[in-house]
Amino acid sequence: MLRLYNALTRSKKLFKPIKNKHVSMYSCGPTVYDHAHIGNLRAYIFADTLQRVLREVEGYSVDWVMNITDVDDKMIGRIQRDNPNEDPNSALGILADTYTDIFIDDIEKVGIKRADIAKLPRATDHIKGMQLLITKLMREKIAYESDGSFYFSLDAYKKSGKKYGVLVDLDYTPQARVTDDQDQKEGVADFVLWKAQKMSEPYWDFEYLDQNYPGRPGWHIECSVMSTQYLGAPFDIHTGGIDLKFPHHENEIAQCGGHQANFFVHNEHLQVHSEKMSKSIGNITKLSDIKDPLAFRLLCLQAHYRTQMDYSPKALDSAHERINNLRAYADQLFLATEHQLPTADESGITAEFWQIFSASLEDDVNTPAALAALAAIEGKVFSQQTLQLLYKVDKVLGLQLIDERPISSEARATLADYETAREAKEYIKSDKLREELKTNYQLQVSDTQYGPLVSRIRK
Ligand code: AMP
Ligand code: ZN
Repeated sequence: MLRLYNALTRSKKLFKPIKNKHVSMYSCGPTVYDHAHIGNLRAYIFADTLQRVLREVEGYSVDWVMNITDVDDKMIGRIQRDNPNEDPNSALGILADTYTDIFIDDIEKVGIKRADIAKLPRATDHIKGMQLLITKLMREKIAYESDGSFYFSLDAYKKSGKKYGVLVDLDYTPQARVTDDQDQKEGVADFVLWKAQKMSEPYWDFEYLDQNYPGRPGWHIECSVMSTQYLGAPFDIHTGGIDLKFPHHENEIAQCGGHQANFFVHNEHLQVHSEKMSKSIGNITKLSDIKDPLAFRLLCLQAHYRTQMDYSPKALDSAHERINNLRAYADQLFLATEHQLPTADESGITAEFWQIFSASLEDDVNTPAALAALAAIEGKVFSQQTLQLLYKVDKVLGLQLIDERPISSEARATLADYETAREAKEYIKSDKLREELKTNYQLQVSDTQYGPLVSRIRK
């Protein structure tokens, strides 16, 4: 059974889905105003790994929803800079389309399958739902209108008996200032739900009590609405980077009148020289700067998701080397001929490996421990059972270690000649054939107790 660190209780808890065998999970997704950086990708790689563990280790089906933020200050800043003469609503749509496609491309390169995400809803397709929630909060007198904008009143929320500061210890009193770096709110502690239209900004009509309040939604409201619309309330797991704990998730919870998910799970940051990777600091690396995106995925998995992880090209190079070694081992198993390897691993090491591997993942998704467990079999154990387990490893970690392309019949024939020459102790001939396999077919031969095993040579 999976134990998962829950920010609501600040402890590892046994995870039990609300519905038997079925998990509902929501991840805060990208703002599609530009390329994601690899720090953002760490957040999605973690969410993906978690949902893979739920599916492949725990045997649940998973409904995974990730939102696309397609309206906020950053989106608007971008269209005002690049398309000042276009209709702002349509310019926003074009910008969102462009970077949503790029985002999907990027996540697929790091091993996230688009098909595993049940829905990628966009904020601007849910304006009506957000307006309904704001209307409800107005009716409950937890929100108020001022100058055409609508705000969430923390004071009123607290007076209604609710707690603000569920995920983080916020010493909120009506006088205390609660800062929010995304919204231009007017009150000391309140946050914006709906922003009144500003000149040349995109807007939507909002009919409230027979009056129109043209404007656009605040950032937090979209996730309260889309998560519960698609997954119901409560749903099982809400994920996001640690910076989203407050104010974003805290505000999402308040808007829902209490925590809408049973587990809130946050990944720590990817850093550069001990500083968060972020566009505003200017220390970002994009995925297009990385030659082997799956090596980056491995690098992420080598750190526990709740620890800060320092990124450097050198660290990426070592991950590249490590994934190539794992790929070579997978090749040796996959490219072995039908009768070359025993069906079962009689030593029991393969079965023991799976025990440790899955137990590590069930312990708060401890991917570094799971990867370390691979060392017990890598390059040492060869059987068809081991290959079958490696397929499972691929499903769980998403590293795509097994390359299912067959080798050519010419290469196979050369390999058979190599084996014959070696058995006949014709070492000059076998050395020549080994070189031929290398130069003509980019295959490396290793002599094992099961005869020669081959792997592809990778740079
Ligand atoms: P944003 O597009 O800024 O809302 O971020 C998208 C996701 O990436 C959120 O879950 C953030 O918490 C996460 N994130 C942003 N920067 C980093 C970073 N340096 N390391 C890990 N996650 C990050
Ligand atoms: Zn969100």
